[in-house]
Amino acid sequence: MKSFDVLQEIRVDLAERGYPILIGAGILEEIGAIFHQREIAGRILVITNPTVAQWYLDPVLQSLQRAGYDAAAAQVPDGETFKSLAEADFLYDRLVEGKYDRKTVLVALGGGVIGDLTGFVAATYMRGVRFVQVPTTLLAQVDSSVGGKVAVNHRKGKNLIGAFYQPRLVLTDVTTLRTLPDAEFSSGMAEVIKHGIILDPEYYRMIGAKLPQILRRDPAALSEVVGGSCRIKAEVVRKDEKEQNLRAILNFGHTVGHALESITGYTRYKHGEAVALGMLAATKLAERSGLLADQSLEPTLRRFCQELHLPLQIPGLDSSAIAEAILLDKKADQGAVRWILPLRIGEVRIEAAVPQESVVDILKEMGG
Ligand code: NAD
Ligand code: MG
Repeated sequence: MKSFDVLQEIRVDLAERGYPILIGAGILEEIGAIFHQREIAGRILVITNPTVAQWYLDPVLQSLQRAGYDAAAAQVPDGETFKSLAEADFLYDRLVEGKYDRKTVLVALGGGVIGDLTGFVAATYMRGVRFVQVPTTLLAQVDSSVGGKVAVNHRKGKNLIGAFYQPRLVLTDVTTLRTLPDAEFSSGMAEVIKHGIILDPEYYRMIGAKLPQILRRDPAALSEVVGGSCRIKAEVVRKDEKEQNLRAILNFGHTVGHALESITGYTRYKHGEAVALGMLAATKLAERSGLLADQSLEPTLRRFCQELHLPLQIPGLDSSAIAEAILLDKKADQGAVRWILPLRIGEVRIEAAVPQESVVDILKEMGG
């Protein structure tokens, strides 16, 4: 057996639905041994896409088969449009035709699209079969694989059809991030930065101190980043699994972010790029409302964005149209938008009373 390092194990504590997140370097190739050790039994169907499969499918299948598992794979095309009921249906066909039973284990090998789709199929096939996440994008490792939200898109909107369904295990190999395109990596880093700002000043400082290693994708630095983010998100989810209150703080940067994505038809910005702009806008709003007690937040956030090539300006966009789109956002609560505004690094507040004029002004200041 090749050597591998499980660098960290983080428990997502949710009573009987709790599960571990294993983070390591090179652990992908040991998935079979790890499944054995964790007493996972049953037939396995690995769900992935061709982009991810070209690097990681053979090692995963071989490792599972070496450990004695009956493991096969199903591939869906790469892209957000394939997070759909049509692709779920294709996977149900595959499961039914292959006579997969209730003891089946589905393995999601890929980014958030594969994770959400596989989780949705796992939640619904035979009223629920076990599933394991093997996230291969930074966003999936720090965000979408933690918290148990699974979904497919509807033509009228993203994630409209879904469930809360927790995996049995998350197996995160940070070395898979080496093949991830820079823009995808930076997009994931926006959520990482968000986790620091909403809850953990030490984590935020660590990101600043280790940015060069992170950008070089050094495995030790990456496991610190992924582990830290998983701990923060797991703690929020433990306290508020079904998004009744606290979980809302994870929407920091997403109020403006979602509006930017929607008015540009989801083509101009990657999600993390829109979130980075949204975090900057929320920080400016907090400053303007006299809530921001820490003047170091905006300059450090700007520096992170610069080094990660995340945008800081919104040239060519209409500020009033963005402000209107914010009002239409589904998170709007009884007509009032719930803004998540920073008070200092590590502390945010949910604020409903933000005047529309201030929003427009801030967006103009950012070039909109
Ligand atoms: P993605 O899954 O589309 O992956 C981005 C791209 O990277 C794809 O082309 C993919 O094939 C490729 N890729 C994946 N791993 C790679 C690797 N190691 N090397 C090279 N290329 C690789 O996008 P994403 O950003 O991972 O996830 C976005 C999705 O996640 C959205 O659908 C979003 O709604 C969802 N999401 C869900 C949650 C949740 O709580 N469930 C949270 C956030 C986002
Ligand atoms: Mg997000």
